[in-house]
Amino acid sequence: MRAGRLALQPRFRKMARMTIRYAILPAHPGAHLFQVTVEIDDPDPQGQGYTLPAWIPGSYMIRDFARNLVRVRALAGGVRRVRITKTDKHSWRCAPIAPGQTLTLAYEVYAYDLSVRAAHLDTTHGFFNGASVFLLPDGRGHETCRVDIFAPRERRLRGWQVATGLQPARGTAPGGFGTYLAADYDELIDCPVELGSFAAQEFAVEGVPHRIAITGRVARLDAQRLAQDLARVCAVHARMFEPRSRRPPFAGYTFLTMAVDSGYGGLEHRNSTALLCQRDDLPHAGMKTATEAYRRFLGLASHEYFHAWNVKRIKPSAFVPYDLRQESYTPLLWLFEGFTSYYDDLGLRRAGLLTPEQYLGELATTLTTVLQRSGRRKQSLAESSFDAWIKYYKPDENAPNSIVSYYQKGALVAAGLDLAIRAATAGRRSLDDVMRLFWRQYKSAGADYAGVTEEAIAPAMVAATGVDVARSLRDWTRGTGDPDFAALFAPFGIAAERGPALESAHFAMLGCRIGAGPEGRISQVFDGGPAQAAGLSAGDQVLALDGLRAGGNRIDAVLARYAPGDAVEILAFRRDELLRFDVVLASQAPVKWKLNLDPKASVKARRLRTGWLGAA
Ligand SMILES: [Zn+2]
Repeated sequence: MRAGRLALQPRFRKMARMTIRYAILPAHPGAHLFQVTVEIDDPDPQGQGYTLPAWIPGSYMIRDFARNLVRVRALAGGVRRVRITKTDKHSWRCAPIAPGQTLTLAYEVYAYDLSVRAAHLDTTHGFFNGASVFLLPDGRGHETCRVDIFAPRERRLRGWQVATGLQPARGTAPGGFGTYLAADYDELIDCPVELGSFAAQEFAVEGVPHRIAITGRVARLDAQRLAQDLARVCAVHARMFEPRSRRPPFAGYTFLTMAVDSGYGGLEHRNSTALLCQRDDLPHAGMKTATEAYRRFLGLASHEYFHAWNVKRIKPSAFVPYDLRQESYTPLLWLFEGFTSYYDDLGLRRAGLLTPEQYLGELATTLTTVLQRSGRRKQSLAESSFDAWIKYYKPDENAPNSIVSYYQKGALVAAGLDLAIRAATAGRRSLDDVMRLFWRQYKSAGADYAGVTEEAIAPAMVAATGVDVARSLRDWTRGTGDPDFAALFAPFGIAAERGPALESAHFAMLGCRIGAGPEGRISQVFDGGPAQAAGLSAGDQVLALDGLRAGGNRIDAVLARYAPGDAVEILAFRRDELLRFDVVLASQAPVKWKLNLDPKASVKARRLRTGWLGAA
């Protein structure tokens, strides 16, 4: 179907029973409202309950999507109003209705969250994740789902199309408005939908069709280059998990990409990903060498694609199944996010989209970021994973002093394990073998798959590689130890070197961060630094240093005239009170790591290095 009114009744009657029938219409793009219905047969005779997820898999924070539902009402047989009451913040219950009647819920969803996590609708496009728009009838999560996606009524939006990983039903053209199918609710909400006029490009990986749909105007977009580069990355990941068939584990894959003025993020799904990027990140016609922004975009796409294996199929036991009513705690996000972060850039290197030097540069940046922050001494990766809901996803000004990133340190742990395994086996085994073992376990378990438990990881690594890394793994993930990178890189002819960080003067000499702009407000104060010792706090507005204006953009220029260890006086406003601080400038600059290829590396080291990073 192309366009039309949202029918609540007769059209549905002929459809198969025990299927949840959803319909969604971008009813009022100007008011950012989707209109949604959900219809079932044989509702619970005691009164049917409904629930909307409180969070979306892949983004570990309670988001309470139900806050955006408006005017929820219920109809029996498509005509008679049924009383519906709210039973908790994301649940409803209908009064019992006569047997044999269908029960339909109709409601509106306010969609104005321009992120990959919820829903957004305006006159330029529509986007939704099922988790934020589709109510699940209690006890019916295993039923098949059909969803009618209606075109907007406005004449000026006639050119819109549909991009999604959902399966079009017979009679619905791929990319067209019409009926789409999902095997169950879990699949339904794992297939986000983009509506709009796209720049689209297609490519294949071992015969499996892949599609890129880009919403948002991008000047002189080189979609062909994008497709070529993504094809190489996708092929690399598929080949790693399936060295024989080289095929990815789905019938098709869609990169839903929103190009905007500012923003960055991605969310993984089983056969698609939703990406948000800046339009300048995307390649333009005539672009010779890949810009850093474009490489970052490719890294994001690589990351989300790798997740199609690692977290969408290989899962922590806590996510089998997901409990979307409340937090699902796992100590293993370092394995699912950290290892994925390790493989995202490594995938670009393997695809020839980063040079070995560029790759090592990225890894060194991660090393610097993790090692500069004292949070890594206070929180283990297991704790960071477990508390993601209240810490990593809710960072405050003290985050660098209290949190370790399971992405960044998790990636370093993956690198440390990979290097250790390769060195111990003369390059015959690697972390790839471990990932393949997890993959085989997933495939052979079928419907009985119970997910990865923490206790099973070290034994799996021994089984896959013959190398016992249990002690390191415990120290790096349950403890707060760091991989010893100087020692780990040495056999590869790579020198891990420390140098002074060439960051802003206030970061180096005061040990704090000051926000950009004329306000000159301190945003973060780092543990053990001069600012903290003097009592300067986040929120303080720096005005003067030794009697001279040093607010806003002036601070770094003023500090440049001082030497490490100098004593200075800083004046700052705190809650409108003028305060004086005696500060002794740091005598040691923060450390920055560099990873350098040793040109005099031995033949053995070069062989190991080539096995890891490919030929230079
Ligand atoms: Zn991720």
